[in-house]
Amino acid sequence: MCGIIGYTGYREVTPILIGALKRMEYRGYDSAGVAVQNNTLKIVKDAGKVSNLEQLVRDSVLTGKSGIGHTRWATHGVPNQVNAHPHTDEEKTIALVHNGIIENYIALRHELGKSGHKFVTDTDTETVAHLIEQFYDGDLPNAVTKALRLVKGTYGLAIVSKNHPGMVIAARMGSPMVIGHGDRENFVASDPAAFLHFTRDVTYLEDGEIAVITTDKVEYRNLADEPIDKHLEQITFDIAAIEKGGYAHFMLKEICEQPQTVADSMRGRLLIDEGTVKFGGMAAVSQTLQNAKRVVFLGCGTSWHAGLVGEYLFEELAGIPAEVEYASEFRYRSPILEPGTVCFAISQSGETADTLAAIREAKRHGTPVFGICNVVGSTIARETDAGVFFTRVQKSAWPPQKLSHRKSPFCSCSHCRWAVAAELAQAVAAS
Ligand code: GLU
Repeated sequence: MCGIIGYTGYREVTPILIGALKRMEYRGYDSAGVAVQNNTLKIVKDAGKVSNLEQLVRDSVLTGKSGIGHTRWATHGVPNQVNAHPHTDEEKTIALVHNGIIENYIALRHELGKSGHKFVTDTDTETVAHLIEQFYDGDLPNAVTKALRLVKGTYGLAIVSKNHPGMVIAARMGSPMVIGHGDRENFVASDPAAFLHFTRDVTYLEDGEIAVITTDKVEYRNLADEPIDKHLEQITFDIAAIEKGGYAHFMLKEICEQPQTVADSMRGRLLIDEGTVKFGGMAAVSQTLQNAKRVVFLGCGTSWHAGLVGEYLFEELAGIPAEVEYASEFRYRSPILEPGTVCFAISQSGETADTLAAIREAKRHGTPVFGICNVVGSTIARETDAGVFFTRVQKSAWPPQKLSHRKSPFCSCSHCRWAVAAELAQAVAAS
């Protein structure tokens, strides 16, 4: 996972790129770089944090009204200056940034090598820049489309060329890409947080889609080169919630926010007096849930551990067999998903690539998949059949007026244990 930003408009591009990269640094942080268009194509990149790039950018004069930027989380090639994005073709005419893995890059490199292409990095990404250059005959969108038809793997891409000032091309296959529509300016990013200060009107790219972005319009097409219509959506969530919020590190922020997060997640949803819960996002699928014969939790890392808690609770409270699967293994092991099985995919960011792949595998079997994540508009939120956002909740029905069921502090029925958990969460949040 990495961060991608692209901009074209009337403002100076460099501060926009750097600001966006800082906001997305949680997505990847071993290297960072920018390419700025201004009749020329200037690239500044290095290993290290965005603050390091910021200093380098300050030292070189980087002016222009369009460009692309990247924070890297290396998969192919060590994190160093050469392997940092953006990558270019040999003539440095085309520059691009990439999130994902080009699975057939060795075969592509081999073929391009036969036509004289020389590669300078160890990355899979560089291959794509050379491939586009190979197809380029003056029409950049066309060259991108032709090149991407040969690429296997996952990508979110933002591409610029010295020959096409003011044009940024974006493409998606398996990695999130969102277009921000502004007034005489447009954006592309792997995360809308990158440009929410400027616009909340967005379009999400789907797999196999390409966006040709210029200052006053965005055109969409698919890999067959057919134009497609996309719908504009409005982002309503608050940007502060997905930033570091004053903490030095995201991990520290997450640890310190746990009591508040637990309390927020329960608020308005745990109906203690009624002995039940209320999830607006799940209402439409309540029948499917009631008929479920088996529950499979999908997640990676901490989400996988959260799934273990879910497993215990589902078996104990609902009496439904439950299990937890590593999302990263799920699609490789021919899972048995008989009718009556439902899946819950858990992801903090809503963008975990392995969890997304597991969701698609489950859906391929016709299994209903529900999401539990905390980013509205994220890919997992959009690709699951229904779900729950666990931090942004409505404020209602809290605090509970009375805990009528509770007989003694030692009552261990599930109703009372939930009530005690809720009280605890409330107390912690208040402290
Ligand atoms: N595979 C590319 C690389 O290693 C992109 C990694 C990323 O998503 O940051 O450079």
